[in-house]
Amino acid sequence: MSTSTTTRSPSELARVLPPDVSAESFDAAIAAFAAILGAEWVHVEPGQVSVYDDEFPVTGDHSYTASAVVFPGSTAEVQQIVQVANEYLIPLHAISTGKNLGYGGAAPRVAGSVVVHVGKRLNKVLELNGKYGYALIEPGVTFFDLYNAIQDAGYPLWIDAPDLSWGSVVGNILDRGVGYTPYGNHSLWKSGLEIVLPDGDLLRTGMGGLPGSNTWQLFGPSFGPQPDNLFEQSNFGIVTKMGIQLMGAPPAAETFQITFENAEDLGTIVDIMLPLRINMAPLQNVPVLRNIFLDAAQVSERSDWYTGEGPIPDDIVEKMKADLGLGYWNFYGTVYGPPPVVEQYLQIIEAAFSQIPGAKFHTTQTRPHSDSDRGAHTLHDRHKINTGIPTVEEANLLNWIPDGAHMGFSPISAPDGADALRQFRMVKKRADSFSKDYAAQFIIGLREMHHISLLLYTKTDAQQRDDTLRLVHELIDEAAENGYGEYRAHHAWADQVAGTYSFNDNAQRRFNERIKDALDPNGILNPGKAGIWPARLRGRGL
Ligand SMILES: Cc1cc2nc3c(=O)[nH]c(=O)nc-3n(C[C@H](O)[C@H](O)[C@H](O)COP(=O)(O)OP(=O)(O)OC[C@H]3O[C@@H](n4cnc5c(N)ncnc54)[C@H](O)[C@@H]3O)c2cc1C
Repeated sequence: MSTSTTTRSPSELARVLPPDVSAESFDAAIAAFAAILGAEWVHVEPGQVSVYDDEFPVTGDHSYTASAVVFPGSTAEVQQIVQVANEYLIPLHAISTGKNLGYGGAAPRVAGSVVVHVGKRLNKVLELNGKYGYALIEPGVTFFDLYNAIQDAGYPLWIDAPDLSWGSVVGNILDRGVGYTPYGNHSLWKSGLEIVLPDGDLLRTGMGGLPGSNTWQLFGPSFGPQPDNLFEQSNFGIVTKMGIQLMGAPPAAETFQITFENAEDLGTIVDIMLPLRINMAPLQNVPVLRNIFLDAAQVSERSDWYTGEGPIPDDIVEKMKADLGLGYWNFYGTVYGPPPVVEQYLQIIEAAFSQIPGAKFHTTQTRPHSDSDRGAHTLHDRHKINTGIPTVEEANLLNWIPDGAHMGFSPISAPDGADALRQFRMVKKRADSFSKDYAAQFIIGLREMHHISLLLYTKTDAQQRDDTLRLVHELIDEAAENGYGEYRAHHAWADQVAGTYSFNDNAQRRFNERIKDALDPNGILNPGKAGIWPARLRGRGL
């Protein structure tokens, strides 16, 4: 959430109430929350609450403004908060650390919701197991916290961090976040959840259901259906504990950078990449293919290169490539193992991509970190991320333009050259038509790629903000018409994205709604999150 006291002007600091809740009812609910938590853990002053506004605002109104914030200090208190919310029909919005920037930040989907800042006080590493390589954590544990706990314990274990480690492990996993070591598919490595359900009941998944079990964090499924993934990108419960399995530190690791000259090399790069990746060797981690704008934004500002109208012209792009020693596409990955294996894998990778004319291969050894070589910056930052060291360097991106923020358009692509090129051309053409730089990367899983297009805008410029939102809406529709769907979405376009998964009269949405209505008959938990509306608020146009 925002570190400033408020992002709203004084005239906007009015109280925003939830739908269908009178001021009297709301005040009674707040009094009940204070009786449970103590008044200091219930914030209602608009100046305090506005800290939870979306740091990357996508509208100029109060569509995503909270009414209050509560800070539970135990699982039992979360249960009691949920019970009060059911009594007064108060929508709750759970966050761990609220740093989900680009996807709504700390702000709720429904205006007037009460933010439950679960991670503020529930922020401990409850267990760190060096023998089996796992941790049991509370929602407020950040990637830095987990890293530090492992260092303090001296265990040879790694975390898997996203580009930015400013947020929590739990919040990132619950929004199906991605990282970049071999454990980069975060959802896969969670192992056992404790969840407060919307009626206040308490569930432990997997082996956590068996009293006295010592395998809660070792075996996710246990017996019968495994519901854990239902709590990601949904509104079916508030997670209060999560198990996370950790990668063992390998004997050696080295990170490479391969620069490719031309935008249209993309198809060949992806086709060469697939056989090296799908078998988890020699491309062992989640590699990334970043374009010039993303890397240039790490070390410079847009105005250093161009101050004219429209998208940055091609001749300036050529100058950026030459000055920074980068290509239009820049591929980063890390290989792991005993030193001879690392050496051999690097040779295979270099030989494979050298087929592309103009490709240049570097490692952290051949391209050392240096103030005089700005193009080496991202290579060394990726080396940290890919070897389990948290950083926040990627946030430099936000300085590319003044008051920078981004809206993310993130369709899934097959790991196929023709698909990648089709998506690239589609987004670039539309971004150009909105005079927006195409700053993007492909994050490469085993059998798919997340195509992350970061559509940057100046958040204090209403026209830019509105145009960028329009661009995102248009891209979602165009992508869906071509068979491409998004993996993650801001509140402002979650309904639209959910609508694109329309097979059999939106069977997926109807299925989610049936679960929602069964678990949350009063519709109090995160209504509308991920396009899932409870019966009480469905079709209301909120
Ligand atoms: C420049 C830039 C780069 C980024 N790079 C990456 C990246 O590489 N990978 C990536 O994944 N993300 C990335 N992000 C997005 C974001 O910063 C991270 O995903 C961040 O880790 C999530 O923040 P958080 O942990 O505070 O989650 P929160 O904001 O606390 O929560 C995230 C979501 O989970 C839900 N939730 C959280 N806690 C609970 C709970 N206890 N119970 C129920 N629901 C809960 C929330 O309602 C919310 O929808 C990037 C953002 C920026 C600006």
